[in-house]
Amino acid sequence: MADDDPFENMLAQMDRAEEFADVTHGVFERLKHPERTLKVTLPVELDSGDVEVFKGYRCQFDSARGPFKGGVRYHPSVTQEEVEALAGWMTWKTALVDLPFGGAKGGVICEPKDLTDNDLENLTRRYTEGIRRLIGPETDVPAPDMNTNPQTMAWMMDTYSMYEGYSVPKVVTGKPLELGGTPGRIAATGRGVSIVTERLFDYLENDLSEASVAIQGFGNVGSHAARMLDDAGARVVATSDVSGAVYDPDGLDVSTLGAHVDAGGLIEEYTRGDLRVEDRTRWDEGQAISNEELLTLDVDVLIPAAVEGVITNDNADDIRANAIVEAANGPTTVAADEILSERDVQIVPDILANAGGVIVSYLEWVQNSQEFSWPLETVNAELERRIGSAFDETIERYDEGAIPDLRTAAYTLALERTARAHEYRGLFP
Ligand code: GLU
Repeated sequence: MADDDPFENMLAQMDRAEEFADVTHGVFERLKHPERTLKVTLPVELDSGDVEVFKGYRCQFDSARGPFKGGVRYHPSVTQEEVEALAGWMTWKTALVDLPFGGAKGGVICEPKDLTDNDLENLTRRYTEGIRRLIGPETDVPAPDMNTNPQTMAWMMDTYSMYEGYSVPKVVTGKPLELGGTPGRIAATGRGVSIVTERLFDYLENDLSEASVAIQGFGNVGSHAARMLDDAGARVVATSDVSGAVYDPDGLDVSTLGAHVDAGGLIEEYTRGDLRVEDRTRWDEGQAISNEELLTLDVDVLIPAAVEGVITNDNADDIRANAIVEAANGPTTVAADEILSERDVQIVPDILANAGGVIVSYLEWVQNSQEFSWPLETVNAELERRIGSAFDETIERYDEGAIPDLRTAAYTLALERTARAHEYRGLFP
């Protein structure tokens, strides 16, 4: 098996759980195949005057437990197999945190950095037109993922609504507040990462305030996780973006770094002392290191919060962290998992660690259904309750003793829940 094929990795993660899950072989086989994947061709006239033909996908993996749910990513490395793997992971994620949703994912092959805002709007509208036959407030509800954001969701919502002839806010989540978004959605994934990291420390009877943390990726997820872990007393010693990584064993000044990045700054500029902010709380530029070096730092917790497939056969032996909390989807390959599991490195799997985003998406969808909005405190309390009980259930399964690692315990629960839904519903016709 190619170590870097995300769909093969997802199937192998399922296979590891099969012997422990109370799921018949027939249903298990059914769960290995997406229900459908739509491929769309998207010609867009760019601001440059050129017409470029983009390719996009929407994979609907499984809907036994409810409407399909999952983000849309814009990235040059998007492939059909990757979108299908991500849609599978959404299915196991929604089942594990017990949301009444199935799993889906969308992707467009593009380099957003090379596109103007106008190009991105046109591409988003064309993509929405392409997949509008599949999506809908009760059928399949997209949300942000890599390189998409509340503005992208606003364009999707508007395009879908124009065809319907009336406003349909509930067709997407992760919307701006003014269009029916919920407070707390932007920070939700990072908040969930921070909550499960704290829970893991409690479980291991370790003190988070004495822990060092390295976070690969300082985008929406990594930066919010960094701020919350910093607030919780942990020492965030390293983080990174595409330009490079920064390391300070005494702990980074997360708030200055956050303000610099919020103002459009790169980590590389930060390590050079080229800051975009005037107000520094406690600035020390730190040491410039590479993204690869960040992964193998001697820290208590490693949080991959960028792309999939970064912890592999090639570097698993060099990982020195005692625990890994997967903020990204699919950052650890199965080959690496086996190596790390043998070394008793605790991994909080992606389908649990990064579920905060889809949990708060669900809360947004519920508020849209109720035509009623909740305050931030209610949203955050409900997020904590839901991700906390999924964490406890996963630990309970793992503590029974037979299952080798937390990912397999989480998969066992998710597969059983999805299989039960299939069994109750039966086959039609
Ligand atoms: N893209 C996020 C994820 O991978 C959120 C999906 C959603 O909110 O539907 O979990």
